Amino acid sequence: MVEFHSPAAWEIGHKGRKLTAMKVAVCVKQIPDPADPGALDEATKCLKRDTKLILDESDSYGVEMALQLVDAAGGGEVVLISMAPNSEVNGLRTALAMGADQAILVSDDALAGSDALGTAKVLAAAIQRAEPDLVLAATESSDGYTGTVPEQIAEIMGLPSVTFAKSIVAADGSVNVQRQTEAGYDDVTCPLPCLVSVTAGVVEPRYPSFKGIMAAKSKPVDEVTIADLGIDAGSVGWAGAGQEIVAVEEAPAREAGEIIEDDGEAYQRIVSFLDELKVI
Ligand SMILES: Cc1cc2nc3c(=O)[nH]c(=O)nc-3n(C[C@H](O)[C@H](O)[C@H](O)COP(=O)(O)OP(=O)(O)OC[C@H]3O[C@@H](n4cnc5c(N)ncnc54)[C@H](O)[C@@H]3O)c2cc1C
Repeated sequence: MVEFHSPAAWEIGHKGRKLTAMKVAVCVKQIPDPADPGALDEATKCLKRDTKLILDESDSYGVEMALQLVDAAGGGEVVLISMAPNSEVNGLRTALAMGADQAILVSDDALAGSDALGTAKVLAAAIQRAEPDLVLAATESSDGYTGTVPEQIAEIMGLPSVTFAKSIVAADGSVNVQRQTEAGYDDVTCPLPCLVSVTAGVVEPRYPSFKGIMAAKSKPVDEVTIADLGIDAGSVGWAGAGQEIVAVEEAPAREAGEIIEDDGEAYQRIVSFLDELKVI
């Protein structure tokens, strides 16, 4: 068991009280449809995000886990947190239709060009507004996938964080997380409030019902700007980016595999191949 202690956790929701209700904030990224991702902007080398965006499938697992945690606690609330251009709510409506209660959307022209740290600063400020007991995110998004945003949020907020969760059980004042490793899993107990990143595929995200889709249309989405969050325009967007995209290249085409015909001795070739890869 690993115990984490938060040095200076922000004054968010949890006050060491008995968990009879739980407020969970889930970071959800709205991304271009992977079936039709569009093109890169030649000047900025960033993905054009001027089409309708959808809920990143990676985040549907966090939404499902949050809904299950609130059910298990006997009550509470799931609040979605998203940063997206053009007041985009399409992906948020999908998660609201799954059962989330409300959303905070940060949309502001000054955010164009934000790198992962800029994104984390903005999400952290929006999460603080929600005052949750627990923050969930995916381990990595499907489009940008630096896999760094959740831990940067935790660092900015002074929260302990647990990565690669395959299951989360909340008890009074803490969560018990099974954390996936190459060898199996670690059992980690972490005090609330904290941030947990959830591995894809660990729960079965529910399909929004017709009733859920209709209800989602009237659920509250609080759209805010960086000024509302007290964020200086110079610290985010292109102005605040500490990273630069210098080149973008096509991923190399997949090479054909080697076919081994079995002449009675093929197993030896397979064993030596696996040996070369150091997997046996
Ligand atoms: C110089 C530079 C300029 C860039 N300019 C732009 C730009 O103009 N427009 C643009 O869209 N991207 C831009 N990017 C990419 C952008 O920085 C990343 O997409 C973004 O920071 C999130 O990082 P990620 O996808 O790698 O997150 P990861 O760390 O892989 O995401 C993990 C999880 O964090 C959460 N998360 C991440 N991002 C969000 C979000 N926006 N809202 C809610 N939850 C989130 C989700 O739960 C996600 O599954 C730029 C990058 C650089 C380096």
